[in-house]
Amino acid sequence: MRRPVGRAAGAVVDTLVLHYTELPLEESLAILTDATRPLRVSAHYVVAEDGALYRLVPEERIAWHAGRSWWRGREALNATSIGIEIVNLHGDRHDYPAPQVAVLIELCRDILARHPAIVPRNVVGHSDIAPRRKVDPGLRFPWQALAKAGIGLWPKPGAEPVTGNIQRALQRYGYPPPGDVAGEDIVKAFQRHFRPDREDGVADAETRALLADLLDQVGAEA
Ligand SMILES: [Zn+2]
Repeated sequence: MRRPVGRAAGAVVDTLVLHYTELPLEESLAILTDATRPLRVSAHYVVAEDGALYRLVPEERIAWHAGRSWWRGREALNATSIGIEIVNLHGDRHDYPAPQVAVLIELCRDILARHPAIVPRNVVGHSDIAPRRKVDPGLRFPWQALAKAGIGLWPKPGAEPVTGNIQRALQRYGYPPPGDVAGEDIVKAFQRHFRPDREDGVADAETRALLADLLDQVGAEA
């Protein structure tokens, strides 16, 4: 079993990972706090549907929420990330209630203020850092509302589409390279976050234009 452990000396928290629980609140809390499970899962926070906030693991400790993961050339992101589990049975089918989103936004703002290394593009969904394996927080997750509140990025339409190798462009933004996972699934992960109305894995002109705008937005980012 794996208890929450301290972060390595010098580890800087620079990534915020958002999840949905797939289970109701009580079951989620039971699993996320059960230290006897052989495959331990945990998270720093749980946000219930009514907006109740549960703090499970202190931010200075590692929680086990990301699993096999990759972002901007780094793997195993638990060591440097904070994980929030948001109660929702399936974020492709169930909306996130307004009271829950309001509390989530406040929580994310607090976290970003405490950890300035979490730059906007490092606010990610589990599906961004583990394409195909994970689909949370789902197509109905309000990424645009969060971006409007200063949490993460949202692309403006109408940019000149990126040309050439779509995978290279996705990697420049942060996505993992194809390998265990097909290139089409990486495109789907991008669409799942930034173009949720059509998640077909096709790097069409709109997908390329949205990616171009995001790359432009992060151009100045260190
Ligand atoms: Zn997850």
